[in-house]
Amino acid sequence: MSDNTELYQSLILDHNRSPRNHGAPAVVDRVADGRNPMCGDQLRVWVTLDGDRVADVRFAGKGCAISQASASLMTVAVKGKTRAEADAMFDRFHDMVTGKPADEAATAALGKLVVFGGVSRFPARVKCASLGWHAMRAALHADPAAAPAVSTE
Ligand code: ZN
Repeated sequence: MSDNTELYQSLILDHNRSPRNHGAPAVVDRVADGRNPMCGDQLRVWVTLDGDRVADVRFAGKGCAISQASASLMTVAVKGKTRAEADAMFDRFHDMVTGKPADEAATAALGKLVVFGGVSRFPARVKCASLGWHAMRAALHADPAAAPAVSTE
């Protein structure tokens, strides 16, 4: 458990300090905004599709370390996946942070994202950890040129 906590903390710190895939893409394909009023987190997520595949996924915004680190790790996890695979990852991640029981294969498929499993014990933090994922899913299914907004409220 303490190993897990250390891994969790160092990954969060790393991705919060040096967010991956951060900032707007040169050409906007699909975009969505996410807001978590409870904590004040705000994220914008851009998804660039190449056919059915996520060619690029980027984010920007402000908020607590968990929201920023989770969005950063989300971009790394989802980049290169098909739309169906990205949806499946959303479902697995969401099940994990909301404390739903998962089978071993589903947990293994999450890879590093399992560091967020601990937030299921802190309901207010679930929204921070899942905000980037909600925005990603909204962007993934958005019409190009539309910019839907999702709120965890
Ligand atoms: Zn937050």
